[in-house]
Amino acid sequence: AVPPFNTLAVDCRAAPDAALLPRVPGLADDLFRSDGTMTKREIRAATLAKLMPMRGALLWDIGTGSGSVAIEWIRAARSARAIGIEPRADRRAMAAENALALGAPRLDLRDGTVPDALDDLEAPDAVFIGGGLSEAVFDRAFAALRPLGRLVANAVTLESEAILTHLHARHGGDLVRLSVDRAEPVGAFRGWRPSMTVTQYALVK
Ligand code: SAH
Repeated sequence: AVPPFNTLAVDCRAAPDAALLPRVPGLADDLFRSDGTMTKREIRAATLAKLMPMRGALLWDIGTGSGSVAIEWIRAARSARAIGIEPRADRRAMAAENALALGAPRLDLRDGTVPDALDDLEAPDAVFIGGGLSEAVFDRAFAALRPLGRLVANAVTLESEAILTHLHARHGGDLVRLSVDRAEPVGAFRGWRPSMTVTQYALVK
């Protein structure tokens, strides 16, 4: 007999219980409070895949914004930890709220700007650069990264893309462009609404 409701599925759209949400990255964007500068679901999933969350591992989330990448890192593996660096108090407040709501209270939020804010932090197993990218920031983060650590940097501007192009020439690694179009209403019909193309650089130490 078919049960009256599916006990193996959760309606992720309705006031979710963080413990019931999937641990696989790529949570819906509207589960996070944000001011629109957040990495969108499909790009976030691809970013976390390359960061490779592992048990007990530490992530530096540089330019953490509303914290979406760090929160999915913490959710994805047992005892995973993250330091989020973000100079804007309003965004740190959103990140703190999201971390609590989504079961990642271990997110350690720091006020500061990189590269200076990287001084004296515990060496990371992975680094995500989602804001504040410069060659100096890359150099400092890559030097601090533990052996076999992963670094991922996402860029949407020509200036930051130029930095990634140069880093790719210097260090190798993976340089990809990700474009996501979403079907949205166009009057009575639907059309593809493109998001800004993201250039993503990923490197293993
Ligand atoms: N990482 C977020 C996106 C945040 S947008 C996400 O994936 O959802 C980029 C963020 O980088 C902004 O919040 C901005 O305040 C921050 N930022 C810009 N320059 C920075 C710097 N030098 N150091 C730290 N954060 C910086």
